[in-house]
Amino acid sequence: MLVAFAFATALTAQTNSKYILVIHGGAGTILKSQMTPEKEALYKQGLQNALDAGSKILKQGGTALDAVEATIMVLENDSLFNAGKGAVFTNEGKNELDASIMDGKTLKAGAVAGVTNIKNPITAARAVMDKSEHVMMAGKGAELFAAQNGCTVVDPSYFFTTQRWNDLLDAKREDSLKALHKDSTKAFLKQPDNHDYKYGTVGAVALDMYGNLAAATSTGGMTDKRYGRIGDSPIIGAGTYADNNTCAVSCTGWGEYFIRLSMAKTVSDRMEFAHESVKDAADEMIMKKLPSLGGDGGLIAVDKDGNFTMSFDTDGMYRGYIKSDGESKVEIYK
Ligand code: ASP
Repeated sequence: MLVAFAFATALTAQTNSKYILVIHGGAGTILKSQMTPEKEALYKQGLQNALDAGSKILKQGGTALDAVEATIMVLENDSLFNAGKGAVFTNEGKNELDASIMDGKTLKAGAVAGVTNIKNPITAARAVMDKSEHVMMAGKGAELFAAQNGCTVVDPSYFFTTQRWNDLLDAKREDSLKALHKDSTKAFLKQPDNHDYKYGTVGAVALDMYGNLAAATSTGGMTDKRYGRIGDSPIIGAGTYADNNTCAVSCTGWGEYFIRLSMAKTVSDRMEFAHESVKDAADEMIMKKLPSLGGDGGLIAVDKDGNFTMSFDTDGMYRGYIKSDGESKVEIYK
């Protein structure tokens, strides 16, 4: 009896049954005026499916790490989002995928960059973290490693979608126009003008019942990117970061700027060293530092107490959250 009581007390000390999952499906020029009610409903359903998959794991006492991986897989399999199926095309008309995952408890991390035939790049990132002594693997090596470690391999044509192909054609048309006007910097990296362009990367951050944080991000990158271009999403500290002492972060936006700002780690550092709240740290970076350099985008972050933020300086960001008390929401616009 006494033993059972002691055991139960110990368990309660380790868990507080509080969890939270926050997700994004990319930030960018997402305007209500360009969205049909049907399309909006599909996006919201896609986000909801991802929240359901991840929160089921957290509810059953699973880890934040497993929850973010499962959440990302659902978004990767949904062709509406720029990750896995539905990834954007490179300038050469290929799909080159990046993903990363980080465990806030151990600070272990895994990432893959430029993979072309792994159905769910997040599972490859997880394999790098769990089954290798490395943090990041790229290209052919990453593909081989993923295949050897049980990740599903597909023909690259699996990733094709008409919508993304048309986005590439639009981007190329814009390129030629910009070249005419000699706007070289922005011609290389698409800064959308007037079509329904969006970044579309997917991300998830979670706090589990045991107080552990985890973050994961997956993307096709940016439409019309040059071959071999790697954005922030697979870079630990830029697109993804998690530390049980501070927060878990996943970013979306113009990757080059997120890399230059070490975005995700800087949010964590501001909390650790400047004692800012997760919201203040994220807002300062996304609303001030990022636009001051000329970049744009957003991020989601959750802290060790379950406080969270979804900051973005674009017209919209596909996003949502679900908490252990049942509170849940999916949103798109500002
Ligand atoms: N950050 C991603 C990249 O630059 C793009 C995105 O968030 O949609 O590759």
